[in-house]
Amino acid sequence: MAGNAFRAEILIMLTLSDKIRQQIVSDGPITIAKYMEEAMGHPRLGYYMGKDPFGRAGDFITAPEISQMFGELIGLWCGYQWRGMGEEKQFNLIEFGPGRGTLMADILRAGRGVDGFVESISLSLVEISPVLKGVQEATLLSSTGGEVRRTRGLRWISQLAESPDGPFAAVANEFIDVLGIRQYQKTAEGWRERLVDVSEEGPLMFRFVLSEFPPEVGIVPKNLKDARIDDVVEVSPSAIALIQELASRLKRNPGFVLLIDYGHNFTACGETLQAVKDHDYHNPLNNPGSADLTAHVDFEALCKVATEFGAAVYGPVTQGAFLTSLGIHTRARNLVDASPANAREIDEVLARLTSDDGMGALFKVVALTSPGFPPPIGFQ
Ligand code: SAH
Repeated sequence: MAGNAFRAEILIMLTLSDKIRQQIVSDGPITIAKYMEEAMGHPRLGYYMGKDPFGRAGDFITAPEISQMFGELIGLWCGYQWRGMGEEKQFNLIEFGPGRGTLMADILRAGRGVDGFVESISLSLVEISPVLKGVQEATLLSSTGGEVRRTRGLRWISQLAESPDGPFAAVANEFIDVLGIRQYQKTAEGWRERLVDVSEEGPLMFRFVLSEFPPEVGIVPKNLKDARIDDVVEVSPSAIALIQELASRLKRNPGFVLLIDYGHNFTACGETLQAVKDHDYHNPLNNPGSADLTAHVDFEALCKVATEFGAAVYGPVTQGAFLTSLGIHTRARNLVDASPANAREIDEVLARLTSDDGMGALFKVVALTSPGFPPPIGFQ
């Protein structure tokens, strides 16, 4: 026993790089998805596990943290969708990766604009980070005066399957991009998978290598016939699996899903794996666990699988177009009228959320609904 405890102590002293290195030395190169999962979600040393990464002092900032307008419009949008699906008196509202809980607080506040909507919600948050669960709890308890726990059944789950079947809505802002991707590279011998191996030279502990054998048939998207040697394509098996699960649920139960993320409309070659630390880019292979590792979302792949599994699919539309059609400019004017001293700041955040050189064009929005519902606002 004492020996085990001692060995456990020694393990605690290893960095995440050492741990990943040991694993590769013993079992061989790992997929990029596996590397990302370790870097982000390792129970003790992963990026999200020990800190709140948001805001100016953190590594990056997200739309709900930029302005309350973002979450308010989404809250109203959810209320209208709920009305359109028949005002279910009891339904599960699930948020994936709620960060600081800001988006959900704004959704619940603005959702009160739709009679009966908030009162029908049973709230589940899908979150991996103990630190952020604490932050979410504090945000939601304070923004609702404790109501979220007393009557909305606030709870945390680790995956969709833990939420009971039934009418539901799901929201995910900048969540799909954290799910692991795999990369495939075209070579003279055909496609090979890019893997992470240990490096014996240079400043980094890791390097990319190519798999010896081709990937299983069907993994590399079929519409890449024109790919040239050295082109890379990214596939996210976890994102695909999540969308399959959501779409199957939408087929069985009335519901809707809103996905917002940065990414591309069409499947194409290109490398987007990136690491962000202190609001700056960082080498993804340098010091895993210290930076946010993400990849752009392939919306075509997700929409295709959602359709195959029975959901009605709307979008992608750009975040700029979506927020504009929901009335963000009117909302901004109201806020300016209420506090003219903040006019400049409100204009700045409005531009940041909607303009092409801010988040307006890179970020895309997709809605999935049960078949047979009217098209959601913002996608007509
Ligand atoms: N939606 C928030 C935060 C986006 S960052 C916002 O817009 O501000 C990604 C979020 O997903 C964080 O809360 C992170 O802790 C969480 N997360 C990352 N990987 C996860 C996983 N595998 N399962 C559940 N949550 C995860």
